[in-house]
Amino acid sequence: MQQEASNLLLARRTVGFVPTMGALHEGHLSLVRRSKKENEVTVVSIFVNPTQFGPNEDYTRYPKNLEKDLELLKPLAVDIVFSPEANRMFPPPFQTRVTVEELSKPLCGQSRPLFFRGVATVVLKLFNLVEPTRAYFGEKDYQQLQVVTQMVKDLNLDVEIVPCPIVREEDGLAMSSRNAYLSPSERADATLLYAGLSLGKKAILQGEKNGDTVKKIIESHIQKAGNRIEYVSIVHPKMLTDLKQIDNEALLAVAVWVGKARLIDNLLV
Ligand code: AMP
Repeated sequence: MQQEASNLLLARRTVGFVPTMGALHEGHLSLVRRSKKENEVTVVSIFVNPTQFGPNEDYTRYPKNLEKDLELLKPLAVDIVFSPEANRMFPPPFQTRVTVEELSKPLCGQSRPLFFRGVATVVLKLFNLVEPTRAYFGEKDYQQLQVVTQMVKDLNLDVEIVPCPIVREEDGLAMSSRNAYLSPSERADATLLYAGLSLGKKAILQGEKNGDTVKKIIESHIQKAGNRIEYVSIVHPKMLTDLKQIDNEALLAVAVWVGKARLIDNLLV
């Protein structure tokens, strides 16, 4: 990959990069299409990054299907698919980590304290390997997008981060590789996330300014099917700090357990 990257750099080709963990769906493909449109060369990485999973999380059962992923990418004419082995990315005694301090603490950082350290570290490694002109990240993983953007700024990385809108199923559920964990009845319960967020948005647009009130509206809707809420947060869209009073833009963000699947979603209002 490094050899290819130096060749592309020497040839002055623009390189778009889409990092993924595979089990590709339309959300991923929307990023790839955008990269194809905006760059001469598109690189997609497929790598389930062990360092971003906690000890009791789903690393070992995370859905993997390289064959199918390659099939999905074929019609999009991706130039390079980079799918390294975990032990080549992190050979022992690997010991360097990147921590984006404040942005990693709220929201998902509360229950996954080392998650964004794992993300930032692998994204920096991938950037060093691919040397992209632009890199494409989904707003589905909103906090990850902010963490990566801050890292790029803080470490003077020469790459443009391109945020891409959330792709949803027809009933509003945000597409996610983890939706594969849902049984048919859980799949129905999962629609409450987006429906709850939408009710929160509606309340704000109708004039509600109290963060806690909006939070309660979203919570009571999502809880209906016995979904287990990890957080419902109303935060400043850049700092990700709690907003008690909504006077301007607000990010409504949720993490919810539906059966064995931990799902996240968000809405910018
Ligand atoms: P993942 O494979 O889950 O690590 O995701 C790889 C990239 O695809 C990340 O930048 C995600 O934010 C993005 N992504 C995943 N799901 C969606 C979606 N439903 N809409 C837009 N982007 C997404």
